[in-house]
Amino acid sequence: MSQLFTTPFDRDSTASEVIAGVDLSGRRAVVTGANSGIGVETARALAAHGAEVTLAVRRPDAGEQVAADLRKATGNDAVRVARLDVADLESVHAFTAAWQGPLHILVNNAGIMMPPELGRGIGGHEQQFATNYLGHFALSLGLHRALAEADGARLVSVSSSGHLFSPVVFDDIDFRFRPYDALTAYGQSKTAEVLLAVEAQRRWSGDGITANALHPGAIATGLQRHTGGLRTPEPYRKTVEQGAATTVFLAGSPLVEGVGGRYFEDVNEAPLVDARPTELGVPGVAPYALDPANAERLWELAAEIVR
Ligand code: NDP
Repeated sequence: MSQLFTTPFDRDSTASEVIAGVDLSGRRAVVTGANSGIGVETARALAAHGAEVTLAVRRPDAGEQVAADLRKATGNDAVRVARLDVADLESVHAFTAAWQGPLHILVNNAGIMMPPELGRGIGGHEQQFATNYLGHFALSLGLHRALAEADGARLVSVSSSGHLFSPVVFDDIDFRFRPYDALTAYGQSKTAEVLLAVEAQRRWSGDGITANALHPGAIATGLQRHTGGLRTPEPYRKTVEQGAATTVFLAGSPLVEGVGGRYFEDVNEAPLVDARPTELGVPGVAPYALDPANAERLWELAAEIVR
């Protein structure tokens, strides 16, 4: 493993701090799930630095309200809303078909966590895997040409330390043989999102695209609606502004130019761990999430599913 990529920032850094002084005018960004939580702050920070930002959301009415607030807060009128339901392949295809021109920044941020019952989504696949991973895979693939056109695009996969709860279990991705466990399924989907960045980097770096994945930290948002709220103790939590920092850094900072296929946490590349850290707040990425063979295998599987 090459040396870990480090930055001047840390777990307390905010989205505004990591992008200070950076001019993103002329860049076009898509942020999925920018209706709420970390996605809104990600969109705000990119728009505040001049990017044209499309909020890709499944509830356009709510998105329009967020967009109006962001235009007002940033003074940037180029904040738009487009309908995108990443759990629905037709919606993803409609979004990518409608996209025109280059795309400089794609932030795959939308997500669901731990629905209590086993549900099925795209292609009959387990719901969290389908929404968090397959939808974003189809989106990324459909936008590949636009990303390549941007000549220096960034793809950002918002994963989670939850990936440490499960590799992609290729022999039973959909819980047809093992009992459904909501956390394991969330973990599997978040590992898949890291693998998406790893393989996108390998396949698309020749098109000037860099792809990275990240854990935002523990932030109280709507994400924890199925788990009775965020359980992480206060000292280990982040604000939304801190939670969006790693995403915004990877999406827009010149400091990370040309660096790809990696997993970040607290605005720095996370170390490999050989087991799930038992202490809270300790960074780490599982080897299975960065494994190139897993990444290629998953990509080929997903390409068959979403074709
Ligand atoms: P939120 O629930 O606030 O945001 C998630 C967003 O995803 C919502 O806007 C939601 O839309 C959207 N979404 C869900 N399903 C779909 C869909 N099918 N199509 C389009 N959009 C959809 O949570 P966060 O801001 O916390 O989460 C953002 C990301 O960060 C997620 O990927 C999450 O897994 C990750 N993360 C968050 C952590 C945390 O502690 N908060 C920790 C680790 C990772 P809607 O408003 O319509 O429901």
